[in-house]
Amino acid sequence: MTVWLLSHAALTRFAVVASVFGILLLVQMRIPRRGDVSPRGRYLRNLSLPVISAAMIYLLLPLTLVSFAAVIAEQHIGLFNMLEWPMAVEFAITLIALDLAIYWQHRAMHVFPWLWRLHRLHHTDLNFELTLALRFHPFEILFSLFYKGLVIGALGASPLAVLSYEILLAVFALFSHADIHIAERWDQRLRKLFITPDWHRVHHSVHRNETDSNYGNLLSIWDRLFASVNEQPRDGHRSMKIGLGEFRDDVSQRLPGMLMQPFLSTQSSTGSSKPPHA
Ligand SMILES: [Zn+2]
Repeated sequence: MTVWLLSHAALTRFAVVASVFGILLLVQMRIPRRGDVSPRGRYLRNLSLPVISAAMIYLLLPLTLVSFAAVIAEQHIGLFNMLEWPMAVEFAITLIALDLAIYWQHRAMHVFPWLWRLHRLHHTDLNFELTLALRFHPFEILFSLFYKGLVIGALGASPLAVLSYEILLAVFALFSHADIHIAERWDQRLRKLFITPDWHRVHHSVHRNETDSNYGNLLSIWDRLFASVNEQPRDGHRSMKIGLGEFRDDVSQRLPGMLMQPFLSTQSSTGSSKPPHA
């Protein structure tokens, strides 16, 4: 089973992510938190970005992260490929270490101006719902792949642990961006350990101090540990404005403008001319 999953890693990941996407889409139609109406064409534009990223990666890179992990295992590269630790321990450490690494990647993207340019597209969406989880610039995806490759290489992470984290990361990205209503008592329980939609919506607030908080992707412990928590949005979940102060015009929201986002200078009419700071 494991061998089959690893030899069909891309298909496995796609099947899980597409299934979770379908389920969450139904849930957010049934019990929306805000129920904002998306502008015409927004779904298609957000959905087209992962297709463009996948095509670019397919053309540029010879290996996926899972096959990269298999190569380093063969070559005995990385910590776990030199140690004889129990597989379960290595598996658990890999998931936790990758989530910590992604927390710091996300935080760095809000601090360094050139990284903010790669990440900014994700924050220019004016709606907060499921397809926002797919709205990443292809260059950000490429940067993230190299970064994760470095962490995987240093750890000597197993292909199964890498595939598991990739699937978990995608599933939590979908869940945390879904416009679904979760009863407060359940949200409070869940957010003790995991990222919830209410937790992550704060990160998409137009207020800069809220944008620069709640960086976690899967576990909420990193934001607590490194003091970047913002428990609730100041304007309330239903009234809060989503997006940035700038790039709210139609041109920025169309696909060519979205793809050009890393090369655009900040519009100073409504927003800050500086990158955000963590
Ligand atoms: Zn962000």
